[in-house]
Amino acid sequence: MKRAYNFNAGPAALPEEVLQEAQNSLLNFNNTGMSVMELSHRSKDYEAVHNEAKALLTSLLSIPEDYEILFLQGGASLQFSMIPMNLLQENKVGYYALTGAWSEKALKEASKIGEAAVTVSSKESNYTYIPDLKEIKVPEDAAYLHVTSNNTIFGTQWHAYPEGLTVPLIADMSSDILSTPIDVKQFDVIYAGAQKNLGPSGVTVVIIKKELIKANSSLPTMMSYETHASNNSLFNTPPTFAIYLLSLVLKWVEKQGGLEGIAAINDKKAKALYDVIDNSNGFYKGHAEKDSRSKMNVTFTLQSDEITKDFLQQAKEAGFVGLNGHRSVGGCRASIYNAVPLEHVQALASFMENFQQKNS
Ligand code: PMP
Repeated sequence: MKRAYNFNAGPAALPEEVLQEAQNSLLNFNNTGMSVMELSHRSKDYEAVHNEAKALLTSLLSIPEDYEILFLQGGASLQFSMIPMNLLQENKVGYYALTGAWSEKALKEASKIGEAAVTVSSKESNYTYIPDLKEIKVPEDAAYLHVTSNNTIFGTQWHAYPEGLTVPLIADMSSDILSTPIDVKQFDVIYAGAQKNLGPSGVTVVIIKKELIKANSSLPTMMSYETHASNNSLFNTPPTFAIYLLSLVLKWVEKQGGLEGIAAINDKKAKALYDVIDNSNGFYKGHAEKDSRSKMNVTFTLQSDEITKDFLQQAKEAGFVGLNGHRSVGGCRASIYNAVPLEHVQALASFMENFQQKNS
C-alpha cells in the first residue's frame, strides 16, 4: 500500500512505524488479551502507558522538576479558557501578542473571563510577520503574556522569545511543539493539542510551572489545573488510546535523535520548499516575511486564482493531500510536521518546480 503525501494542517500525518505498532497491539496489548482502549484507566497496564508518556516528554524536552505535565481534553481551544480561568486574577490584565487567528481566539476567550489586552499585533499586514520582541510591552502587574509560537494558518513562527519578563510567559505551541529544542524554563505554561506533532486529536498536553497551580473552589472542578495536577491527570477518564499513541510518537521522536535530530530534518524539509519559492522569480510568493517563516506550515500564493486552482488540481491528481491554503490567506499551505517524511517534501518541491516550468 502506498501512503499518501499528507500535508494536512491537523489532524496530520503520523509516523508509519507508530501506526504499525498500534496496529500490531490493537487486539492484544502487552499480553492483556485486550486493546489499550479496553483497559481500565485505573489498571497497572494503563498506568504504565500514562506514566511512560510523561517520562518520555520530560526527557525529550528536559522538563525541570518544578513543572507538571497534564493530559487534558477539549483541545487547545479549551486552554484559551482554562488559562484565564486559572491565571487571570482580578484587577490584573492578561496580555496577548496577536500573531494570527488562534491568538485572536485566545484573546476573545480571555476577555470573557476577565480583562485582556493586546500588547503587539501584526494584524494590519494580515499576519505576515512576528513583531519585534522590543515592541512587546508588558507592565509588571500584568497577569501574564500569551504568545502563539507557530501560526498554523499564516505560516509564521517565533524564533526567539521575550526574556527577562516579570510575569508568566504562556505559549500555545500546538503546531510546533517538539519540532526543535526549546528551553522550557523560558516558559511558565506551554500547551498543545496533540494532532500535529504529538499524536492523534483527543489529548492536549499542558506543561505548567507547579507554583502556578492553585486550588480555587469557585472554579468548575474540571476547569481547574489543580484537579488534574493532584490526580496525575486521572481525575476522570483520560483519552487513553490517544495517550498511548502519544507515547509511541514520543519513542519515535527519540529514535530520530531527539529534538536535535528532528530539528535537523525539519530544517531540510523547510529549506526544500522555501528554496523553490525563493528561486521561482515570483511564480510562487511566500505569505510570511522571510525572518518570520514557519518551519511547520509553508504558506504561498501563485499569481492568480486560476493558476492556483490548476496547481491544486494537478497536485491532487499527483497524490498530494491537504495543500489548500486557509481561506483567510488563500493560495496554498504545505504543513510539514515532524512525521511528514523528507522524501514527501522533496516530491512536493519537484512537483512545484515542474509545474512552474510548464506554466511560465
Ligand atoms: N492553536 C493553534 C496554533 C492551532 O493550530 C490550533 C488548531 N489548528 C488550535 C490552537 C486549536 O486547537 P484544537 O482544535 O485542538 O482546539
